[in-house]
Amino acid sequence: MSNVTLKQIKKSFGSVDVMNGIDLEIAKGEFCVFVGPSGCGKSTLLRLIAGLEQVTSGTITIGERDVTEAEPSARGIAMVFQSYALYPHLTVRENIGFGLSLAKRPKAEIKAKVDAAAEALQLGHLLDRKPKALSGGQRQRVAIGRAIVRNPSVFLFDEPLSNLDAALRTQMRMELTDLHKKLGATMIYVTHDQVEAMTMADKIVVLNGGRIEQVGTPMELYNNPVSPFVAGFIGSPKMNLIEGETAASLGCKVYGIRPEHLRLSATEGRWEANVRHVERLGAETILHLEAAGVGSLIARVAGEDVPDVGTKIFASPLPGREFRF
Ligand code: ADP
Ligand code: MG
Repeated sequence: MSNVTLKQIKKSFGSVDVMNGIDLEIAKGEFCVFVGPSGCGKSTLLRLIAGLEQVTSGTITIGERDVTEAEPSARGIAMVFQSYALYPHLTVRENIGFGLSLAKRPKAEIKAKVDAAAEALQLGHLLDRKPKALSGGQRQRVAIGRAIVRNPSVFLFDEPLSNLDAALRTQMRMELTDLHKKLGATMIYVTHDQVEAMTMADKIVVLNGGRIEQVGTPMELYNNPVSPFVAGFIGSPKMNLIEGETAASLGCKVYGIRPEHLRLSATEGRWEANVRHVERLGAETILHLEAAGVGSLIARVAGEDVPDVGTKIFASPLPGREFRF
């Protein structure tokens, strides 16, 4: 069953069109990630769903209800932003329950809801602390707690992990995935980080210039990107994309091969190449090659037994792993 339906959503700011006709269905309970480069319209689309911006045309349905004209508070959504915006003078308990207190809900109900949210977020032992005595990750969990107590039918997240350091982001990714399983709620999550999209999403929506490039599961996008844009956006290091004469000689406009799908040999192969840079990451090594007639290629290989800078080698695409656009 679809929980959020967008039909022909368009949005202009003055004479600038930033959303160019978005059609999308998000299923109940789905973890849907909007991903794309900065400025592609991710936040705008989320804010349109939230009702913080009005659509120029098109319709938004949440549940069975057309909410296109509805106030944000009447849409059954809760939003979590990159900045947590907690009240510094209130405790964690008071911060999480703030909206309920404001709505004059009974004390016992507020306590029960805050306790349940704190339990889901492992904040139980921190309820009497003030925000300044919390780590960044804990503060973001409090902000998520504030969303949970509203019991929304849809959670909206706008780059909630961007302020956290890399190690904490990895941990929070898993916590959010666990939370999604626990709550079974529909979640729409905006990020520019394809790793977050790949690791958390049931469904990824790749946006480019206010248009949907592709919708699919993480592995569908990895295995079957429909355009060079998606091919280059999903996966790290980025897919090698070759245009021009080389691509034409291979029967296409853009030829793509992922770094992990190049096989290297000292003696033979499709392309003769020079090793320009060697990035040893420990478990794997990234090789930057300059191939005759092709240009720069990146290869990703396992282990430490790799060619030195300046060595001549041969690189070959793994059969069945080439893309032609
Ligand atoms: P993203 O979140 O993907 O980085 P945004 O949705 O914030 O992108 O912005 C998409 C485009 O809309 C950008 O070109 C941005 O400058 C423009 N934009 C966003 N909000 C406004 C606004 N209030 N007024 C004018 N232009 C805006
Ligand atoms: Mg944004």
